Amino acid sequence: MAAKYIFVTGGVVSSLGKGLAAASIGCLMESRGLKVTLQKFDPYLNVDPGTMSPFQHGEVFVTDDGAETDLDLGHYERFTHTKLTHDNNWTTGRIYETIIAKERRGDYLGKTVQVIPHVTNEIKGAMKKVAQEVDLAIIEIGGTVGDIESLPFIEAIRQMRQELGRENTLFVHVTLVPYIAAAGELKTKPTQHSVKELLSIGIQPDILLCRTDRFLSKDIKSKIALFCNVENEAVITAKDVASIYEVPLVFAHEQVDRLALRYLRLETREPDLSRWEELVHRVYNPKDEVTIGIVGKYVEYEDSYKSLKEALVHGALAYNLKLSVNWIEAEGLEQKDQSVQAQLEHVDGILVPGGFGKRGIEGMLQGIQYARENMVPYFGICLGMQTACIEFARNVCGLEQANSSEFDPATPHRVIYKLRELRGVEELGGTMRLGAWTCKLEAGSLAQQAYGQTEISERHRHRYEFNREYETALVAGGLRLSGATPDGTYVEIVEIPGHPFFLGCQFHPEFKSKPLEPHPLFSAFVKASYENKLRREHSRNEVEVEMFHRPEKQRLTTSG
Ligand code: GLN
Repeated sequence: MAAKYIFVTGGVVSSLGKGLAAASIGCLMESRGLKVTLQKFDPYLNVDPGTMSPFQHGEVFVTDDGAETDLDLGHYERFTHTKLTHDNNWTTGRIYETIIAKERRGDYLGKTVQVIPHVTNEIKGAMKKVAQEVDLAIIEIGGTVGDIESLPFIEAIRQMRQELGRENTLFVHVTLVPYIAAAGELKTKPTQHSVKELLSIGIQPDILLCRTDRFLSKDIKSKIALFCNVENEAVITAKDVASIYEVPLVFAHEQVDRLALRYLRLETREPDLSRWEELVHRVYNPKDEVTIGIVGKYVEYEDSYKSLKEALVHGALAYNLKLSVNWIEAEGLEQKDQSVQAQLEHVDGILVPGGFGKRGIEGMLQGIQYARENMVPYFGICLGMQTACIEFARNVCGLEQANSSEFDPATPHRVIYKLRELRGVEELGGTMRLGAWTCKLEAGSLAQQAYGQTEISERHRHRYEFNREYETALVAGGLRLSGATPDGTYVEIVEIPGHPFFLGCQFHPEFKSKPLEPHPLFSAFVKASYENKLRREHSRNEVEVEMFHRPEKQRLTTSG
C-alpha cells in the first residue's frame, strides 16, 4: 500500500509547537502499529542550519548520516522510532541548490525553470522519497501561513492533495486561540484569518489544533467549526501542558488520531500508550529533585541546548527525579568579583556542553577545575571534553599555556588541534566531522560500565580533536583515555579514575536519548549528581547535629 500523508502547517504566530504536534501525532500512529516517518521543510535560504547561530535558530540536530538539521527532528526521533536522514529536512536553500545544479547540467532541456512546476516538483519529489517504505508520512511545513517564503511549500502540498486525493492526504493546521484577559474571552478571529489565508491558496484544513491555555467550550468549538468550514469534532483543544511528553496523551484524549484515521480511511488496532502514561506519571510524581549546572555560552536561549536539556530530563526520569537546570553564563565565571564557588556550590553536577569560538572558555575552565577539585560530578560534551583536557593539562600536568588551536592558534601546547583531515579547509558549511562513528570502550572504564558494552556508535559535530602527542603527559597525570575510534585515530572519551564522575566525550550523546530509552551516560551522570546531593545533605545534617549538641556559648562563637 502506498503511504498516506499528513501535512502540518501553522498559522497566526510562530512557536506554536508544530514540531511537537507532528511528533506527537507520529507517536500516536506508531502506538497503533503504523510505520511512520516525519519530514520538515524550512522556508529559509540557508542550505542547512549548520552555519546559523544558535541564538538565531536554536540547536542544530545531527542525524546518524551526518545531516545538520532543524531541532524539530530531535522531537521526531524522541517521540517515535523513526531514523531520520538528510532526506528528512529540506530548506528552500537546499531545494534551490539542487535545482540550480540540474539547470547547470542542462537537465531541463532548454525549458524556462520556474517556481511552478520545477520548485514544487522538487519539493513533492522530496516528500515522496521519504514516504517509500512507510504507512504514513507526517510532513511539517515550517514558518507561518501567509509568509511569502513558505508559499512554494504550501502550493506543493495543495498539488499533493490534487494528485493523491482526499483519502491519502490530510491537512492539519496548528493555530492560536488566545485568551484576552480584558474581555475575559477566548478569541477565534486569528484562527479564522489564518484559515482564510490557507483557503486563498487552495487549502481547506481538515483538523485544527488550537493552541490555548484553557479548554475550548462546545460553543467556541462550533463557532470555529462554522467559520472555518471543518467538523465540530475536528476543532481540537491543544491546551498548554507542563511536560511536552504529555502532548501525545492530550491528543489521544481529544481523539486526534481516531479522527485522522477516519479521514484517511485507515483501520488500525487501538493505541497502546501504557509506557507513555507511566512516563508521564513519573514526570508529575518525582521522589526528589536534582540540580545540574550547565556552564555554556548560549545559556540565555534555552533552544540552543534543546536535546541536551531533554536528555538530562530523561536521565532524571530514569531515577524518578525532577530535573532543575541552573543555566550558568560561562563568561560570568571569569569575573573576579564573584567567586566560582559561590556560583557553583548549590549545584549537584556540572555540565559543559558543545560550542564554538573563544568566548567564555576561561569561565568553562574555572567551572571544570571546581568540579574536578571538589569531587562534583562533571560531564563534558564535545567542547566540554576538549576544555576538560585543557584544564587537566594546565592545572594537573603543569602545561600552563595549554589550549586548543581554535582559541589560541599560537599556543605552545596544542592539546586540542584542528582535525587532521580538515587541515587547509576554510569553508564553514558542512565541513566538520559529522554523524555516527563507532567508538571502542576500555573494559572497566566508567564509560564502559555506564553503557554495559564495549562498542558504541555516537553522533559527532566538531572540527577539532585531541592531540595524541599529549597522551603520555596527560595519562601520566592521571587522565584515562577510555574511548577511541576502532583504528585509534580519534580519542573519543576521557575520564578521571577515582573521581565520583568525571567524563568528557567528543560526541553528542544527547542526540540519541529518548524519554523511554534514556541515554546511559546521562542517567549515569544524573545518578552520580544525585548521590553527590545526598552526600552533601548528609554531611550538612551531621554538622547541624553536631552544632545542636555543642554548648550555647560555643555555638554562638562558631556562627558569629
Ligand atoms: N568547537 C569545537 C570543535 O569544533 C567543539 C564543537 C562542539 O562542541 N560541537 O571541535
